[in-house]
Amino acid sequence: MPIDPKLPYDNENIFAKILRCEIPCNKVYEDDYALAFHDIRPQAPVHVLVIPKAPFVSWDDFTQKADDAQIAGFTRAVGAVTRQLELDEPGYRLMVNMGGHGHQEVPHLHVHIFGGRQFYHMIC
Ligand code: ADP
Repeated sequence: MPIDPKLPYDNENIFAKILRCEIPCNKVYEDDYALAFHDIRPQAPVHVLVIPKAPFVSWDDFTQKADDAQIAGFTRAVGAVTRQLELDEPGYRLMVNMGGHGHQEVPHLHVHIFGGRQFYHMIC
């Protein structure tokens, strides 16, 4: 079920538990601002999620409340992950689902990185 992005941050969401190392993840990258790990149900040959270490519910929440260092740090982390995975050539796709119409299911901001195959105009 998609989340209600207006709800306050839920410390018991699954990505909060991954950040606290209470449940495992298949880690790809970590720095002061972000953690990246393989999606448990990959939708492409490469499907990695990048999450901020601070508690932002959604993209909307992040763009309102994150300070400049957090925005820069998180954005640079996404770039660092794509380079680490050697996706820059031939390219990749980024996706953020936001709220109900975006079908966001986990209430902690995450950027999906898809790679390893050709993508076309849109996905469902
Ligand atoms: P949607 O499921 O509609 O794509 P989201 O954008 O909220 O909505 O994506 C949540 C993603 O988190 C899904 O791709 C799902 O497979 C992934 N996921 C859920 N639990 C875990 C987990 N424990 N480890 C890694 N990925 C997970």
